[in-house]
Amino acid sequence: LPRQETVEEIQDQIGQVLMEAIKGDNIKANLRALTKEPHQAGTKANDRVAKTIENLYLSAGLQRVHTLTYDVLLSYPDWDKPNTVSINNRFGSAVFTSKGVSDAILPDEQGAPHAGHQWLAYSAPGKVEGDIVYCNSGTPKDFEEIKKMGIDVTGKIAMMRYGEGFRGDKVAEAQQNGAKAAILFSDPAESVWMPPQGVQRGSIMKLNGDVLTPLYPAKPGAYKSRTIDEAKEKGVIPSIPALPISYDTAYEILSRMNGRPVPPEWQGNVNVTYRMGPGLRDGHKTTVDVKSSLTTKHVHNVVGYIPGQDEEDRYVILGNHFDAWVYGSIDPNSGTSILAEVARAMVETMNTTTWRPSRTMVFAAWDAEEYGLLGSTEYVEEFVQQLGGRAVAYLNMDCFAGNSSLDIRTIPSLRDLAVDVAKRIPNHLEEQVHLGRKTLYDTWVRAFPGANDQPDMKIPGGGSDHTGFLTFAGVPVIDFNMVNTTRNSYPLYHSLFETPFLNEHLYDKPDFAMHRAIGRYWAELARTLSDSPVLPINVTKIAVEMKDVYVLELRKALNSLPANPNLMEAKQQVDYLEKGAQKFLTRAQYFAEHAGRVQVEIAENPFDQRKLRGVNERIMMAERCFINPRGMPGAPENRHVLYSISEKDSYSGKIMAAVYDAIDEYSASTDKKKAGRRVAEQISIIYHSVHCATNTLKHFF
Ligand code: GLU
Ligand code: CA
Ligand code: ZN
Ligand code: ZN
Repeated sequence: LPRQETVEEIQDQIGQVLMEAIKGDNIKANLRALTKEPHQAGTKANDRVAKTIENLYLSAGLQRVHTLTYDVLLSYPDWDKPNTVSINNRFGSAVFTSKGVSDAILPDEQGAPHAGHQWLAYSAPGKVEGDIVYCNSGTPKDFEEIKKMGIDVTGKIAMMRYGEGFRGDKVAEAQQNGAKAAILFSDPAESVWMPPQGVQRGSIMKLNGDVLTPLYPAKPGAYKSRTIDEAKEKGVIPSIPALPISYDTAYEILSRMNGRPVPPEWQGNVNVTYRMGPGLRDGHKTTVDVKSSLTTKHVHNVVGYIPGQDEEDRYVILGNHFDAWVYGSIDPNSGTSILAEVARAMVETMNTTTWRPSRTMVFAAWDAEEYGLLGSTEYVEEFVQQLGGRAVAYLNMDCFAGNSSLDIRTIPSLRDLAVDVAKRIPNHLEEQVHLGRKTLYDTWVRAFPGANDQPDMKIPGGGSDHTGFLTFAGVPVIDFNMVNTTRNSYPLYHSLFETPFLNEHLYDKPDFAMHRAIGRYWAELARTLSDSPVLPINVTKIAVEMKDVYVLELRKALNSLPANPNLMEAKQQVDYLEKGAQKFLTRAQYFAEHAGRVQVEIAENPFDQRKLRGVNERIMMAERCFINPRGMPGAPENRHVLYSISEKDSYSGKIMAAVYDAIDEYSASTDKKKAGRRVAEQISIIYHSVHCATNTLKHFF
């Protein structure tokens, strides 16, 4: 008699069938269907894209395909009057005026009259004449340097280059430093392959989610608790006009600049010596002319399901946004087209085998991500209780920046899963396979070597739709991406030139092998999360990270402050935290053994599924202990005590931000007693979460 196959072997075979089912040609066709016209959120064209996705999901065989509508505050330019920057001589006549529109180069880019419009969402409208100051990348550090040089930005136009963080933070920083307008340009040093007339569009809103309905879903008719004026006052949206320009326009300005040459690291690759300003030579003045308006519009998330056969009410969520700045062939519809194919391939696998996902798969296409993660954040706000109790994990893919290596942002408890699955996915690059790098993992670990023989995985920051899931609902997330050897944004990011031609001929081969590899990775992550009897979420890793990294770094930070009795309590709290982390670790290790035993037991006695459900519930609830329902001081939407978005760079993540903010405040404060108590309080909140997680893993407490 042939030997009976083990559960693992059967699962491996299902994985193989599923991977084979994902077809590059289908992804390619999806991409063409989704990128026919520019489709910013809130436009008719984007409604058509939502419909296309709905139809793709329906024909894939997803169930309960539906849309969720929210009314959110969006921003548009005047499509008939382009935004411009002009240079006037001392008699007031223009010597240069930018066109404000990028011209199409390839056939794919043609046909949409307003596609080339250069603008930033949520810019204030206005016509401002003034003197330019070169502000490098517009980081807080750059502005400090400028101050040190004795240059005052007040009342000037801040000219900054892209790169080094989120554009919205740059404009906010410029405004805070007194600038009356902001210009952002694509420096060829950063955007190597951008055509000279190309620009990066994007949002400069500082918050995640709808501006007018913080913390609550912007369902049609919902009360708007914040006004536009309040949003401006709070710095959520800027009060100054801001404009993106190309580097051929930047040349016109830079080549006329007054003042001393910039520090060597601030010199970019426009072919002139960059100068600080203020102002242009010969009394020339610069005028920034921005036309824009704010309006509330409907946006629509599209969602569909494959119900789980064992646990219908446990969700593995796969998500990507679909709104774009122009055609969006990379950002985001590379992801949208892959996700629809993953859905189709899963249903096909169900039709050709006996496989059914054990837990429910949720496929989500988010609207209005580009404006500030609006669709996904409103969804999380609407379903925060259900997601908190039932979502196993959220798997986000936005777009890719390169084509050779995975790049993954996740939390410690999902790192092992991210790595294990990458080891199962064949490498899409033949030249790397020839070098013996057979899987995605092989390239990844070489490109970004990290601790414990794993590839380096950063903590998720902001900048895409995983944010609300992690920082508001406490759902574990993986945000994955394909990059080259650096993690910079890609050369044609948010430009008119993001069309399928790029995907087909420059990023990938016509067979879409890379798109397929990404789909396989996504599908296998989801299948593993759905089918593993014990959830592949490693709680022990949170404990290890807490004990070996977070506590040590915190101690170091406190010890580096000048000795002061007002820090005693804070240091005592670190001692508690360290002990708490050790207990958590010990408990997590016991728990892992217990979970292993239950897994064996249920294989022998399938009637005892309840024990398994108990194990998995504790895994999920231990993670949720790190959500503080009160949020961070002054930021009720930032509820994760370990992971939040850096305030000064919304793209990157920050660990225990409330604690480190309190430490910064302590350093700056004159009332050390009070400030020291705040530090202690914030550390005690972390301790409380660790203690909560420990108790969650126990049977009795
Ligand atoms: N992904 C979008 C961008 O980078 C939106 C990010 C955000 O608003 O947080 O522009
Ligand atoms: Ca809201
Ligand atoms: Zn995107
Ligand atoms: Zn984007």
